[in-house]
Amino acid sequence: RRVGYAIVGLGKLSVEELIPAVRTSQEGYVAALVTSELDKGREFARALDLKDSDVYAYDDFEALAQREDVQAVYIVLPNSLHREFITRAAKMGKHILSEKPLGMNAKDAQKIVDTCKKAGVQLMTAYRCQYTPHHWAARDAVQGGRLGTVKLLDSIHVQVEDDPTAWRLQKDLAGGGPLPDVGIYSVNTLRFVTGQEPEWVFATLHQPKKDKRFREVEESVSFLLGFPDGVTATVHTSYGAFKTDTLRVMGDRGSLLMDPAFTYRGLKLSIEDSAGTTVPSFPDYNQFGLEFDHFAQRVRDGRAPWTPGEEAVQDHVIMDALYESARSGEVVKLKGVKKKDAFR
Ligand code: NAD
Repeated sequence: RRVGYAIVGLGKLSVEELIPAVRTSQEGYVAALVTSELDKGREFARALDLKDSDVYAYDDFEALAQREDVQAVYIVLPNSLHREFITRAAKMGKHILSEKPLGMNAKDAQKIVDTCKKAGVQLMTAYRCQYTPHHWAARDAVQGGRLGTVKLLDSIHVQVEDDPTAWRLQKDLAGGGPLPDVGIYSVNTLRFVTGQEPEWVFATLHQPKKDKRFREVEESVSFLLGFPDGVTATVHTSYGAFKTDTLRVMGDRGSLLMDPAFTYRGLKLSIEDSAGTTVPSFPDYNQFGLEFDHFAQRVRDGRAPWTPGEEAVQDHVIMDALYESARSGEVVKLKGVKKKDAFR
């Protein structure tokens, strides 16, 4: 039986990507919508063959407790609201798929994980790049040895944020600037592709406070992640520069480039070694549909999802260390890394 989701928050991502994607899902469907804009919600409900009574205000969220057909909620709200809505959903016994970043910092994310564990509900972080065939092919090339011994890593994720009123530029709603919003993809994907965890970090940050967009959060962060065996990643993330998103892994016998590496569509992977260059291609897929399907399967079979809350806590630990490094000007060492569950 397909798993019923309630989508919480009808902003840009839900409207433009998630709702269209879930319609292609084999395993899940939208059973309810939760929003402050009830008229907009009802319009979407009609398009999804739902009733007006399937649309709930945030204050009526707890009414979902009576809805046995809603087994999971998908939290698609500004970052600072994730914890509140995850906690409320966990109390109702609903399983939770949450957008990234899971929390505002490592402590906040760990509290979210603990709450869900205590309530006995599944928690998955929506790291869509860990579900695409392109990223899995990159991971296989790296971990399968095709590039030889990995020596250097490099990633960029930047895009212009030009609306000075955006919640993404307000620290109490976003938690930070481009780092927890888009830089997180570089951090998470470098960990995913290499299967390794950074042991230390070093960061510099640029915040031009005269630009009214950056009174509260940084414009750019440039950083190093120190992986085992002296493998260093260089990473840039910014809200100030033209859209660029890339990932590069350089080994002693080959290298790979993903460009674009983090877009919703049109990912491109090329792998080069002494035999030449290959550009793997895959049947068309929808990243959000893959995510929905994976979580629905895990809700049904009771196994932990591939990207559980703990995966996000680790990214938050790294991002907290990056901010600390930018503040202090020092290298920050990391410890206490957790192992992942099996994907298949
Ligand atoms: P958005 O601004 O387009 O939508 C936010 C929604 O939250 C709106 O429906 C808004 O009405 C509602 N909201 C409730 N309280 C609010 C408040 N106090 N201030 C502002 N809005 C409030 O944002 P979005 O781009 O849809 O992002 C939502 C979440 O999804 C964020 O956590 C973001 O990081 C994540 N996201 C993920 C991806 C991805 O590729 N996985 C892409 C975009 C956004």
